[in-house]
Amino acid sequence: MPEGHTLHRIALAHTATYAGHRVRADSPQGRFEGGAAVLDGRTLERVDAYGKHLLYGFDGLDDALHIHLGLYGKFREGTLPAPEPRGAVRLRLQGDGHWTELRGATAVELLTPPEQDALLARLGPDPLRSDADGGGFVATAARSRQPVGGILMDQAKIAGVGNVYRAEVLFRAGLDPYLPGRDVGEAALGAVWDDVRTLMRAGVRSGRIVTTRPADRGRGGRVRREDAHYVYRRAGLPCRVCGTEVRRAVMAGRNLFWCPVCQPRRLASAG
Ligand SMILES: [Zn+2]
Repeated sequence: MPEGHTLHRIALAHTATYAGHRVRADSPQGRFEGGAAVLDGRTLERVDAYGKHLLYGFDGLDDALHIHLGLYGKFREGTLPAPEPRGAVRLRLQGDGHWTELRGATAVELLTPPEQDALLARLGPDPLRSDADGGGFVATAARSRQPVGGILMDQAKIAGVGNVYRAEVLFRAGLDPYLPGRDVGEAALGAVWDDVRTLMRAGVRSGRIVTTRPADRGRGGRVRREDAHYVYRRAGLPCRVCGTEVRRAVMAGRNLFWCPVCQPRRLASAG
């Protein structure tokens, strides 16, 4: 599943490509025929990413196009003319020399303004949005009995973080993923928020997730894929910092990776 930085990159790219232009919309597969007919011929005004959700606003239309890629959703893009649609193309946009095809997404729908509000209300703050309420995340997480490794995957508490950023941010913070939020402390949670934002912003710029500090890669130049992470998908390999075997367990439905020495178990503080 793509993480938030990927959705923000898509929002930026689709804004650059289509905003201010009239777009043709259709649903070659047919499953979004009615919605596409409403959008067809309108000018796209804006594309916003909130966590892992995309909202497209069109001229003269209160409803917004909502897209959630989920595990299998994928965009394909190119320059016109568009190829013959093949397979299950749910939505196709064409305009200003470009085409975009969307397949396999969990949600492709028009949302009324109250439905848009409801969607945003069930999402926690998104560290990639400049208006995000980081203090709100810290306050919510600091009251939670949920393990911090679960909190980071809970889109209602923080929107956009996925499995890679979760594992890596906790490593960088030296936090045991099983420590309940209320035992982590506000200062550490604030530092987690800041670090997530820094890493995800870098992800938006580069299109990849690199979390290792240069000193821990031991090699300059372009970061190789196998040097990009501290613990994610490194189960059984030696920790880059202390040499201990990286562990793996399932938490919040996904594989969690951590180093038991760099992220030690802590006893909950009294009170
Ligand atoms: Zn370690």
